Amino acid sequence: MPSSDSKTCAFCSKDGASRLCVGCNGAPDPTSTGLIKTLYCDAFCQKAHWNTHKIACKAHRARRILYRLGETAQMAFYIFRENAYDQNIERVEIKENSLLLHEGYYDDGRILFPFPHHLLRDEQDKQAALTFLTCGDAIAHMHELFSIMLKGTCPDVVEVLVRPQPPKRPMQTVRPDGPNRGNDCPHVILMVTLKDGEMYAVDVTGAQYGYYDSVYPWDQYLQTRVQTSGQEVSFRSFGSLKTKYHGAVWCATPGYKGAVRTAHREFATTFDRAVDEWQGKGVKVVEMLRMGAEAFVRARGELMGCVAGALQEFKRGFDGRNMVGGFSG
Ligand SMILES: [Zn+2]
Ligand SMILES: [Zn+2]
Repeated sequence: MPSSDSKTCAFCSKDGASRLCVGCNGAPDPTSTGLIKTLYCDAFCQKAHWNTHKIACKAHRARRILYRLGETAQMAFYIFRENAYDQNIERVEIKENSLLLHEGYYDDGRILFPFPHHLLRDEQDKQAALTFLTCGDAIAHMHELFSIMLKGTCPDVVEVLVRPQPPKRPMQTVRPDGPNRGNDCPHVILMVTLKDGEMYAVDVTGAQYGYYDSVYPWDQYLQTRVQTSGQEVSFRSFGSLKTKYHGAVWCATPGYKGAVRTAHREFATTFDRAVDEWQGKGVKVVEMLRMGAEAFVRARGELMGCVAGALQEFKRGFDGRNMVGGFSG
């Protein structure tokens, strides 16, 4: 496999090759931290090499789609969470390496709170706050988006419950009366197997542990992120968490908790509708993942803008609604 800085023709091995195989260009290279760049002298060398290259090219392309898929779902979830934020953060403190989110009370009937952008200037801290204790929410509420993106490329996907290793960057919420919760509970991710057998972890809420990417080779994820003792891994079919989180039993929990769950389900429905509407205007999300790099970034920007707009609008209407009367706890 050519390294990313070599200019050697993949067919005849001559130096100074400059014709890129656009099919696989920029795909993550599983053997290094670099990106795939298959170069040829000219159309002749490329054509001559195609029979040899096509299997690898296809595998690179599938991997590129998966990484884009992970990034897209992660961005979308940040936007979702920012708009459906349910933590009342009054102060942020960084103590040793830990991020502490100081919460106020939850006694004024509010279910959603403005995301504290002004307290979280650092992009990684912001992502940590957005993902804290939300792994299940991400898998459940982004299910439709995951589902349409996975179609055709990575149909082999399961939801996996893991027991995470201690975080690289610990965080905790603190209530006025003392520490509340750390993120030491089980963690849910997706395990995706590509057609050529390569396996990946898709984890869009890793920022709460100090990991900010969304896709990792499966073996590497297990080694660095998962506790190896005990029953650390269990599997559920793709869609299980959505069925649970959007189900009547889950949302009918009495009190504040049930109200938040119901609110999140409504935001998720709004989110799905926005994606549908965007697709209705022309480009399908699956096609977007296959575009050239620039076109992809442009299309994704449009999609995210569309989703953000829909969620903001829903939130404006939502804030005025009296959900407090719906529960008595
Ligand atoms: Zn050549
Ligand atoms: Zn190629």
